[in-house]
Amino acid sequence: MRGLSEPPVYGTAMLPAGCYAGQVVMITGGGTGLGRAMALEFARLGARIAIASRKPEHREAGVAAMQEVGAEAVGVALDVRHADQVAAALDEIEAAIGPVDVLINNAAGNFPVPAERLTPNGWRAVVDIVLTGSFLCSLEFAKRRIAAGAPGAILNILATYIDGGAPGHAHSAAAKAGVANMTETLAVEWAPDGIRVNAIAPGLFPHDDHAPAMRARRPDGYEAEWTRIPALRVGRTRELGWAATYLCSPYAAFMTGHILVLDGGDRLNRSIRSPLFVPIREQLPATTAP
Ligand code: NAP
Repeated sequence: MRGLSEPPVYGTAMLPAGCYAGQVVMITGGGTGLGRAMALEFARLGARIAIASRKPEHREAGVAAMQEVGAEAVGVALDVRHADQVAAALDEIEAAIGPVDVLINNAAGNFPVPAERLTPNGWRAVVDIVLTGSFLCSLEFAKRRIAAGAPGAILNILATYIDGGAPGHAHSAAAKAGVANMTETLAVEWAPDGIRVNAIAPGLFPHDDHAPAMRARRPDGYEAEWTRIPALRVGRTRELGWAATYLCSPYAAFMTGHILVLDGGDRLNRSIRSPLFVPIREQLPATTAP
């Protein structure tokens, strides 16, 4: 068994050089993990990058990574849950590197927990970051683009459990499903204004910044999960970079309201007989970390 082939090596260009020259791309949570990987591909194609998140060390790491590939980049303090901070962040980016042309709603919070142990605060935190945060950033971005008579692109980062839910992730799955639905609504509302709204639903993409609570659930490491995926491999973060830059580019000018699943067939994985049913509270006993 060989599985699906590996993608081209990191650094291979998919779009023409300079495709994003003169454009400003804002990516929430762009200092770590998948956000940084996607931001890097925009940077390599000539975009000026704004990394927006809460922690200075994340923003600094993101900005440094963009500068390493020769891009202009700024870090902006932002908690996406607060509308006033979102407006201030867009003002700050505009003053530093120009008005935002492309918005990537990538910031998220998540931790596995059986629903009956999920506190109201835990629920609110995840739903506020993922669903409300994506809406607040989209709204502020679109209002500015519409007022300026300028086109724009929004890309929402989902997860494959937007369909079918996810035991242990009631908060995140509900929030991501909400963002998927919002992607479709806003795509129609804002198409007349030249603003496209698309999304990517990533499967499993290992990176060095996985939160400890998520890492603890994969004791053999993320790479070892390849045996569970029809592709017989996990995702490579550069694959997300190519997908994100395509979806926001002029080459996807007629595409809006689309959700691109990039998961090596994982969400379609079925057996002739279902796997043994193990209740989530047995998979996540109360004695373990959240
Ligand atoms: P990650 O490394 O944990 O990144 C999350 C980012 O969100 C961090 O940079 C964090 O920065 C930022 N963030 C969190 N709360 C925020 C807030 N309130 N305001 C602003 N920024 C905030 O996660 P990841 O694995 O790269 O995931 C990136 C996206 O892909 C997420 O939307 C995730 O749901 C999705 N995804 C990932 C996978 C995967 O295999 N990795 C699979 C499916 C979907 P600060 O701490 O500095 O705020």
